Amino acid sequence: MKNTIARLSCLAFSIAALPTFAAKVPALIIDGQNNHDWKATTPVLQRLLEDTGLFTVEVATAPPAKDAKLADFQPDFAKYGVIVMNYNGDMWSAATQRALEGYMKGGGGMVIFHAADNSFTPWQAYNEMIGVGGWYGRNEQSGPYVRWRDGRQVLDFKPGPAGHHGPQHEFVVETRTPGHPIMQGLPAKWLQAKDELYDFMRGPATNLTVLATAYADTKFQGSGEHEPQLLVIRYGQGRVFHTMLGHGPDAMKSVGFIVTLQRGTEWAATGKVTQKVPADFPGPDKVSLRN
Ligand code: ZN
Repeated sequence: MKNTIARLSCLAFSIAALPTFAAKVPALIIDGQNNHDWKATTPVLQRLLEDTGLFTVEVATAPPAKDAKLADFQPDFAKYGVIVMNYNGDMWSAATQRALEGYMKGGGGMVIFHAADNSFTPWQAYNEMIGVGGWYGRNEQSGPYVRWRDGRQVLDFKPGPAGHHGPQHEFVVETRTPGHPIMQGLPAKWLQAKDELYDFMRGPATNLTVLATAYADTKFQGSGEHEPQLLVIRYGQGRVFHTMLGHGPDAMKSVGFIVTLQRGTEWAATGKVTQKVPADFPGPDKVSLRN
């Protein structure tokens, strides 16, 4: 009798626990090294993803720069529906690189957040996953600049360094691929809160779709080009959402950043977006912030 009750209560627990587990996608944020304040931004990323009700979020913190223990850093990528990269630092072991490549080729999901596109210059597969990147020795050897000119994506192979931004300012983000699930229902133009506007980014740019751009105005030392800010990349069967926005916690209060991060992460994880566009999503004239 005792055993039966134990078994029954165990069964009841499993049934009760199942729908929650089945409904939420496990996400993993990776941090631990970054030239940005990852200790401040990871909790914000975690909260924004949990706020959707779609994800359970864990964090894997890599050992610090130049620490020999980094050789043993190998998250179990396969446990997660999406990997959120908040890491810009020392190269991972060959085994960990191959593991991430295999996870993505097999249909994994990944989000590249802001300076994560600075990381791993010598790792060719990572450059293919991010599409374009900047700084840390990238140049014309890395691939073309990607710009938006005359209504279409243009690859510019002229020589030069990769990665730049002027002083932070508010800027208009323009939707370029309105039919993509991440962008469906968003306005054609909206204002991002004061943030860094990355320009002169370059890379392999294969299997890449530009979702949204921003004009890098020369009055803010920009390129004078419409520069990609939100992208998606196919890598094998895997899906990558790449947002260049979100330098720090203040810029991450911008509703445009928040909503595109939440929708982009869902798309990277599942290939679909079920989230509705919220009423506080900005238009082109006024920044919308959440605390
Ligand atoms: Zn930054």
